[in-house]
Amino acid sequence: MLLGAQEQPTPLPIPASTYTPEYRAFAKAAFEGALAHAPAYRTWRRHDRGPSVDIFARYQAMPVLGKADLREHQPGGFVPAGRDLDSALANGEVELVKTSGSTSEAVTNVWCQEWWDASEASSWKLHAATASARLGDHREAILASPLCVGFGSEVGYLTMQQRTLWHYLFLTEKADPAEWSPMLCDRMIEELAQFEPTILEANPSFLSVLCRHAIKHRRRIRQPAVVILTYENPSLIHLRHIRSIFQCPVISSYGATESGYVFMQCEAGRLHQNVEQCHVDFQPLAPRHGGPMVGRVLASTFHNPWRALIRFDMGDLVRLATEACPCGRHEGLTLDAIEGRIANATLSLAGKLVTQREADVAIAEVDGVDQYELVQTDPATVCIRYVSDTREPAAVEPELLASLQQCYGSSVKIIFGRVQALSPVRGVKYRLARVDFEIDSHELFAGRP
Ligand SMILES: [Zn+2]
Repeated sequence: MLLGAQEQPTPLPIPASTYTPEYRAFAKAAFEGALAHAPAYRTWRRHDRGPSVDIFARYQAMPVLGKADLREHQPGGFVPAGRDLDSALANGEVELVKTSGSTSEAVTNVWCQEWWDASEASSWKLHAATASARLGDHREAILASPLCVGFGSEVGYLTMQQRTLWHYLFLTEKADPAEWSPMLCDRMIEELAQFEPTILEANPSFLSVLCRHAIKHRRRIRQPAVVILTYENPSLIHLRHIRSIFQCPVISSYGATESGYVFMQCEAGRLHQNVEQCHVDFQPLAPRHGGPMVGRVLASTFHNPWRALIRFDMGDLVRLATEACPCGRHEGLTLDAIEGRIANATLSLAGKLVTQREADVAIAEVDGVDQYELVQTDPATVCIRYVSDTREPAAVEPELLASLQQCYGSSVKIIFGRVQALSPVRGVKYRLARVDFEIDSHELFAGRP
């Protein structure tokens, strides 16, 4: 896949990022090491502009690495030559982990726990609350699909002990929050009180369901030092539920199994690049689709001895910050927001891309929508299934209609369906928005025909 090869950097109206000499050295070593030693990059060497050219320009001249490339070369193609994968697998130094994405086929990853832990620890420096919490062997509760992490059981329930591993407690063995009973939600609240985690790490969709239970039944939840949201990009609706229950800092962390931790939200609400661990290229959308401040991110990892990734397409759109962050951090890229998966973007009647976040802002304006799933079935029709705990369709739907028509165009047809609950895709993650037709991804980005 040669998308983006030879693209030229576009000057952007953003505050200058700084990059230390140490960062440049890591970026150069990672780049040159990957090209020289990882078999998957053999055909990429011809794109290298050479050691006399600025290292960031050398990155930008490279193709984009997609999941299809990872599948084609899995599992050993990104392991630097000279490393013995079979022995490392046999002695437990690494393992093979399948990602179970909601939008594409699974990929088998060479998983190095030591690298992952280092990447996570670096990300903690990017928020004052995690930087000061002396993390490492802290107690951590995790609320996410057991098909992603932890222990699943669809038949019976597991004990707290059966869901505990090292210093982690996995709060649910049931993958579908639509089927969580009030008793199970109460059990999670009781276990949080008993376990006293420093961090509650959660998929925001999942935590939102627990918080709605707590709101409805007036239950208090023990406050951890921080709540870290990951696995999915949080909806404003999720954040509303979560913040009404948790008064501690609620922080978004952004990364992927393949890339490690790439961005982390600071105390001022922006997201900063995890500069100790990765390089990030930004490729803006074409102006007609919301560029140049919105674009996709391509991550390159620095220190993973078992897998060298260069310009891995994270599959997400982000919005660059237009001002320096008041927290004072200025190394690497700073984002105002994650705009959501490219696969979750839809189209306005005028043919402009509507990011998941833009659709979410429109829906979150309407009081009483507690959960939703938006599917654009054709360019002129948007179907929205929603859950409301507090308002009737006669009150919610006219407001949703007005808000969505403002977002998509005044003559877009909106079809409503009120439901009791919504389930994650294949029990893994929710997909808040999508189209049922093909969007030509080749014309989305700037500098391309
Ligand atoms: Zn900041």
